[in-house]
Amino acid sequence: MNRIYLDNAASTSVSNEVLNEMLPYFTNMFGNPSSLHYFGRTTNEALDVSRDRIAKAIGAKPNEIYFTSGATESNNWALLGIAEKFQNSDKKHIITSQIEHPSILETCKYLETKGFKVTYLPVDSDGLVSIAELLHQLNSNTLLVSIMTANNEIGTIQNLKAIAKTVKEKGVLFHTDATQAIGAINIDVKEMGIDMLTLSGHKINGPKGIGALYIANDVEIAPLLHGGHQERNLRAGTVNVAGAVGLGKACEIACRDIIINSQKLRRMRDYFVEQVMNKIPYVKLNGHKFQRLPNSISLSFGMVEAEALMMMLDLQGIAVSVGSSCSSGSVEPSHVLKAIKLSPELAAGTIRITISKNITKEDIDFVVEKLEEIVKKLRAISPLTKSSIGEFDNV
Ligand code: PMP
Repeated sequence: MNRIYLDNAASTSVSNEVLNEMLPYFTNMFGNPSSLHYFGRTTNEALDVSRDRIAKAIGAKPNEIYFTSGATESNNWALLGIAEKFQNSDKKHIITSQIEHPSILETCKYLETKGFKVTYLPVDSDGLVSIAELLHQLNSNTLLVSIMTANNEIGTIQNLKAIAKTVKEKGVLFHTDATQAIGAINIDVKEMGIDMLTLSGHKINGPKGIGALYIANDVEIAPLLHGGHQERNLRAGTVNVAGAVGLGKACEIACRDIIINSQKLRRMRDYFVEQVMNKIPYVKLNGHKFQRLPNSISLSFGMVEAEALMMMLDLQGIAVSVGSSCSSGSVEPSHVLKAIKLSPELAAGTIRITISKNITKEDIDFVVEKLEEIVKKLRAISPLTKSSIGEFDNV
C-alpha cells in the first residue's frame, strides 16, 4: 500500500543528510565527551560544532545552547529552573497562554501547587494572544512569561517580536516554545529579545529524544538534573552525542532551506485547502488565515466524528491526527480548540493535517478524493444535522 504521511507536526523522518552525520557517533566515535583523551575530545568537539550550528539557527551564542532530551524537558526546565531560582523572591507570578503544549500547561499547574500564581492568557478565534491583555496582566510580581512561537494544533504563529518587546519593557523574563516554528519562520533571539527558547530534534527531520534549551547568558536558572558537570553544571548526565550531532545538522538544514521549503509547503498547503473547500461542504479551516505555519492545516468537518475519519483514512494508507482526545470514554475537545471557541460539535470533527516538503499534487488529489468519500459515508450515519453545527466557510 502506498502510504501518505500527513502528521509531520507529531514527528518527522530523519533526513539522510542528518543520519549520515550521526552514524560515526554510534560506532568508531563513541568516546564520552567528558573524557580528556582523544576519544573524548573528538566527541566533545562534535558537540561544539553542533552547539555552534544550533546557535547560528536562532541568533544565539554557542555557550547559550544546552542539550536536553527534547522539547518537553526544555519546557519543564525553563519554568521549573526559573521558579526554583526565584523561589525566595516576591516574584511569584507567571504568564502563559491557554493554547500552550501540555509540557508548559502541566508544569504551570504544578507550580501553582508550589505557591506560584499563573495567568493563562486567552486567545482570539484565530489563536492569537492579545498584546493589550498581556500588558494588562504584567505586574511587579511577574517573574516569567512563556508564550509559544507557533501552535502545534492550529499552526497559528504569534506576534512574537511584539510579545517579547512588551515583556522585556517590563523587565520580565521571556521564554518561547519554538518547537514547531524552527525551519518555518526566521527567529533571532537577540534581535527579538528572547531570554529562553525551546526546540526539538524530531520535528525538524532530526532524531527523537534530543532537544535544546537556549538560555541567554545573563539569565540565572537552577539546574534541572544534578550529579555531573555537563552542560555548564546545569544539566547533569552524559549528552546523547549522536542525537546532539543530528540536532545540530537538522537545525542547520532547516535554516538553510527555510525559504525554498516554506514556499513549496505554502503552495501545497493552499492547494490542499482549496481542493477540500471546493469538493466538501460544511468545512471550517482553523487557525490564522495568513499567520500560520506553512505545513499546517486544521480542518473541522461538520457532522463527522474525527476519530472515525482518522481511522478510515488510515485504512486507505493516509495518516492524519485528531484534534480532540478521547478520555474516559467521552471525547473531550482539545484545550486549543476550546480556547479558539470552536463548538464541541465542530471540535469533535477536527483533524490536523501537517504536510512535508515531499508531498505531491497527486498525493493531495488522492487524499481529497478519499476525504470526500469517507466524509459522505460518515455524514450519512451522523445523528447531527446541518442546523445544529453552526457556520461554515463553504456551504
Ligand atoms: N511543544 C510543542 C509545541 C510540541 O508540538 C511538542 C511535540 N508535540 C512538544 C513541545 C514536545 O516535544 P518533544 O516530543 O520533543 O518532547
